Amino acid sequence: MLSLNQVSKHYDNKKQRHGKPVRAVHEVTFELRPNEIFALIGESGSGKSTLAEMIVGLQKPTAGSISWSERPSSVQMVFQNPDRSMNPYWKIKDIIAEPLILSKHKKKAALEQASRLAEKVKLPRDILDRYPTECSGGQKQRIAIARALTMSPKLLVADEITSALDPSIEAEIMQLLLSLKHAEGMSILYITHRIETITSFADRVAVMRNGVIEALGMTNDVLLHS
Ligand code: ADP
Ligand code: ADP
Repeated sequence: MLSLNQVSKHYDNKKQRHGKPVRAVHEVTFELRPNEIFALIGESGSGKSTLAEMIVGLQKPTAGSISWSERPSSVQMVFQNPDRSMNPYWKIKDIIAEPLILSKHKKKAALEQASRLAEKVKLPRDILDRYPTECSGGQKQRIAIARALTMSPKLLVADEITSALDPSIEAEIMQLLLSLKHAEGMSILYITHRIETITSFADRVAVMRNGVIEALGMTNDVLLHS
């Protein structure tokens, strides 16, 4: 479904004073399969976000190729900080519906779809008429997920989306992602620096260090040996 072939992202940092070149991602090769949860783990600075941004098209590789067999809009990304993708002056229903309205759906149909998706991600019904400042961190990530679902993604890239949340809220969001994998038949690339959370969650895992994939395989096999 998605394949990465020898993908690299090197920054030359020439414009910075004392800037040194960085190999953020170096010759990474792997495939994502349909309907799997694939965890990408590694310490801060290991290249996870850079890799994720190349997969969704926010950054261009300096070498290698990424091929995606589906529509471009069927890859969606959710970020660690939901506030950056939410207009604080908009109601939640308009935030969720925005991608539909931008892709020329009628406002009424878009809002109906937003309401269905809010229900799917288990947001309380009355949240639709509230504003982001009135929502909790966990609710905001559900809103960001509902917004991504408007595009019927085949792949959802989740970059540290639970890292700022309490462990119990984190567990609820992971439960939601598992149910979406089953109900929507989509794949999830789940990026985290917390290894302990993914054991009973991910189908496969890749471990990144200094821009390279150090280990990749079924979750139990990889975690037993690292
Ligand atoms: P992670 O998501 O695992 O924390 P990142 O992909 O954010 O890792 O960063 C990988 C490396 O690339 C780090 O050394 C980081 O400082 C560097 N890096 C990331 N973005 C840039 C950039 N725009 N310019 C220069 N270096 C960068
Ligand atoms: P890091 O992953 O190292 O903490 P940042 O959080 O600054 O780095 O974000 C990395 C990239 O993701 C940047 O290109 C930034 O524009 C983008 N980004 C981060 N959060 C969001 C968001 N909620 N909405 C849109 N873009 C975001």
